[in-house]
Amino acid sequence: KQVLVTGATGFIAMQTILDLLEGDYRVRGTVRSLNKADTLREALRPHTPMADMLELVEADLSSDKGWDQAVEGCDAVLHLASPFPAAQPKNPDELIKPARDGALRVLRAAKAAGVKRVVMTSSMAAIAYGWGDSRPDLLTEAHWSNPDNLKDNTAYTRSKTIAERAAWDFVNSPEGEGLELATINPAAVLGPALCAEVSTSLEIVSRLIAVKMPALPNVSFGIIDVRDVSQAHIQAMETPEAAGQRFILTDRTLWFTDIADTLRTAFPDRAEKIPTRKIPNWVLKLMAVFDPALKQIVPELGRFRNASNTQLKTVLGITPRPAEEAIIASATSLLEHKVVS
Ligand code: NDP
Repeated sequence: KQVLVTGATGFIAMQTILDLLEGDYRVRGTVRSLNKADTLREALRPHTPMADMLELVEADLSSDKGWDQAVEGCDAVLHLASPFPAAQPKNPDELIKPARDGALRVLRAAKAAGVKRVVMTSSMAAIAYGWGDSRPDLLTEAHWSNPDNLKDNTAYTRSKTIAERAAWDFVNSPEGEGLELATINPAAVLGPALCAEVSTSLEIVSRLIAVKMPALPNVSFGIIDVRDVSQAHIQAMETPEAAGQRFILTDRTLWFTDIADTLRTAFPDRAEKIPTRKIPNWVLKLMAVFDPALKQIVPELGRFRNASNTQLKTVLGITPRPAEEAIIASATSLLEHKVVS
């Protein structure tokens, strides 16, 4: 089977490519620049003898160029590429446009090439945001974020919701008829990175073990290991009943303090430097008045983001690794790749 993985340089995509290659799939990846090809194959080589079998083509979500060639001959497309910056841009369109228009470019090219199924990486960002005070206690795949509530969203969370909506609208329209879609909606993805170029999500762990965080914000989030996220993409591509469905990926929800406790226990030589103190909510709110980068945390303060993983277990047959394992594996790989010292 020939599979296209978009955004091959990404944290989740690299693990997925590795698992596909080891699973005897023929794998093509898209990159924004072929200059990254050598680094990418080098990162895969220690983990698989198949690294050099990875075919790479250039395509950017912001341009039509390259997508027809990328999908040609593919049975399935795993669409993982999407901008995921650490800081939010002033103009939300810098994220929304490539996320939405890029997803549509991928879907249109896939449909034209006769691809059977696209698995798109959406996010809990498309489920858990914009609810104000009416967010359900347990989020499921039936729930959608409201991207129009600007107070309770970032440009990133809006970009993921708008892009996923556009993808479902496309496959439900005459233009997309016959193309199957499944979406993967992970919570925060942690776990081992295959190279030193790490995703924004690993910054949570990196800041804690690199002594860059003096105290802990009163924030919670679901956690899922990257190795389970990769398997979920593959199962969503292979399982007939997965078509037309969304899949929340989480092991369980932890507070920042739980993550710090896990790291303190696993890395006793660093324990003293990993913070124990909580930042009072009022202090963070005050700081956010002066620092726009902190504004996105304010609506999250004190909220327990519980979400169901029943679909993941029952339809895709995956029991996620414990969140603690993902946290410890993140830290170990960040130290191994010298992202932190
Ligand atoms: P990374 O930042 O590691 O990967 C993002 C990938 O998208 C990179 O390959 C990047 O390419 C590519 N990309 C960004 N902008 C463009 C563009 N304009 N054209 C083409 N490619 C582009 O993040 P992750 O691996 O963590 O994320 C992968 C997917 O998973 C994303 O869709 C993200 O939203 C989603 N997700 C991630 C979560 C997490 O916690 N990590 C949680 C939920 C969802 P380049 O190397 O050139 O920058």
